[in-house]
Amino acid sequence: MCGIVGFSGTREAAAVLIDGLRRLEYRGYDSAGIAVCDGERINVAKVKGYVKNLAEMTHDGADIRGFVGIGHTRWATHGAPNDVNAHPHLSSDGRFAVVHNGIIENYALLRQELTERGYKFLSDTDTEVVAHLLELYYAGDMKKAIMKTAARLEGSYSLGVVCLDGSGRLFAMREQSPLILGLGVGENYFASDVAALVPHTKNVIYLEDGEFAELTPEGMTVYDVTGHEVKKPVSRVAWDVEAAEKGGYEHFMLKEIMEQPACFKATVEPRIKNDRIVFEDFDLTDGELKSIDKIIITACGSAGYAGQVGRYVIEELCRVPVTVELASELRYRNPIIDEKTLLIVISQSGETADTIAALKECKSRGARVLAIVNVVGSTIAKLADHVIYTWAGPEIAVATTKGYTTQVAVLDMLAIYLADRLGRMDSVTYERLITALHDMPGKMQRAIDLNRNVKKLAKRLSHHNDIYFIGRNMDYAVCMEGALKLKEISYIFAEAYAAGELKHGTIALVEQGSLVVTLACYEPLFDKTMSNIEEVKARGAQVLAVAPEDNKKIVSKADDFLPVPRTEPIFTPLAQIIPLQLFAYYVAKERGCDIDKPKNLAKSVTVE
Ligand code: GLU
Repeated sequence: MCGIVGFSGTREAAAVLIDGLRRLEYRGYDSAGIAVCDGERINVAKVKGYVKNLAEMTHDGADIRGFVGIGHTRWATHGAPNDVNAHPHLSSDGRFAVVHNGIIENYALLRQELTERGYKFLSDTDTEVVAHLLELYYAGDMKKAIMKTAARLEGSYSLGVVCLDGSGRLFAMREQSPLILGLGVGENYFASDVAALVPHTKNVIYLEDGEFAELTPEGMTVYDVTGHEVKKPVSRVAWDVEAAEKGGYEHFMLKEIMEQPACFKATVEPRIKNDRIVFEDFDLTDGELKSIDKIIITACGSAGYAGQVGRYVIEELCRVPVTVELASELRYRNPIIDEKTLLIVISQSGETADTIAALKECKSRGARVLAIVNVVGSTIAKLADHVIYTWAGPEIAVATTKGYTTQVAVLDMLAIYLADRLGRMDSVTYERLITALHDMPGKMQRAIDLNRNVKKLAKRLSHHNDIYFIGRNMDYAVCMEGALKLKEISYIFAEAYAAGELKHGTIALVEQGSLVVTLACYEPLFDKTMSNIEEVKARGAQVLAVAPEDNKKIVSKADDFLPVPRTEPIFTPLAQIIPLQLFAYYVAKERGCDIDKPKNLAKSVTVE
């Protein structure tokens, strides 16, 4: 959450910072601001709302002069989203400006202490204490002030600091919140995410928790928590600028929906070598594999729903018990976990705070940890014993699409791989599934092509204020993601129910005209789902069925139909979610919602 950028160079910083903030806006969009040092003073511009408001206010940065600065796009945790609470925050003497991602958990005590010392607070944020602490501890040595300040902070933070003490110096600190340094020529940068760095450089350094960095136009130095210099490896970012731009689409979300067949291919194909699935970073011995007696999948939001699909597939193919646990719950439970537990953590960004905490908790109890993440070098990737990257490229829309399908793709492959290694799959089935995997990009493309008309349907159905999603088995798992997609971007109350469970309560809400989206791709339970359709129709509901394209029976019963191509059954969720993503997209568009930046949400949830 929240986007941070920093620039130190020999050209005007403001335009670079605003461009960086635009690229990070998906991380938070309550307010935006910059602070730029011109050698005499720190000039601040900040405003409630989108980065475009900041750009308008500053004439694309032209009004704010100076070669070194920081920027921020906020997802408010402490204090309303308004101009005053917007970052950067200044120290009382105007010598320091600070931007922050995360939560300073002991801010109330610090604020009280600083107030007693005479510091005046202007905002309601937890962040402002950092600016005043820097002032308190600064005695001519910025490095020392940073270290003393960091020692007082509890919680999670990445911080960007610009100060008046020297020419062109910037500082960046990291503790449980992402921050990446970018190495340019005659200028250097930092940002919460590589999306803001790739227009300038592909050479990056990933800061670790407790580290801080000093940046000048000529170079950068990284220090550990005790102030000793740390030599850090330079990594190359594989993403290019175009991948993080809209490429002619009206929204990132639509672009990302359309990219799914290609992303699936990018994730799956390189891992099939000579018709065998190969995971380079998950190469357990037979003994280690056989010792696994249960699998726990933990994640948040859509990644958790990808895990729900994974649960069905892994249990079906491997016959190993799998549970899916919300990371925010698992982290505070007293889970029964030991060395025989395989913990699979899923996170697009690899920075999800709750998932990181659950990972640490389970690891400390002995679990072997396999991470499925998209962002290379992210915290979860580093903490896990093994990583399988989803090679989906940058995902910018807050509501995930290609992130989700590539996670499901990895889980499907993992299920096949484990079943084979455990000796629970015959070679004929293995070969058939490998062939089917190769076919999936085509099937996903067909799911897109079959549903070109969903726009019209969405227009007709967009007035509904609450929508029920029902399905059984894997259909139910997909319902959860379909309902979440709709509620995230259209603000319609949408909830998923196991179709068989509906009559145990929720059917009380179904009345004349209620919209029930019914997923009926899971063949073994098709007739049961048909009965559920009858039940809701008998109470006046309108049914939108999502089912195989050639299923005539359901077409005759349902009011509307979203067709799905036939696939190998375990892979159907990958095709089935596509019409639901498109439906959510067009309903949200019809309702005039800000699709890429839904209210109250942000991507990469780095706070608890
Ligand atoms: N806790 C800080 C605030 O509410 C930072 C939030 C963020 O990460 O954007 O201002």
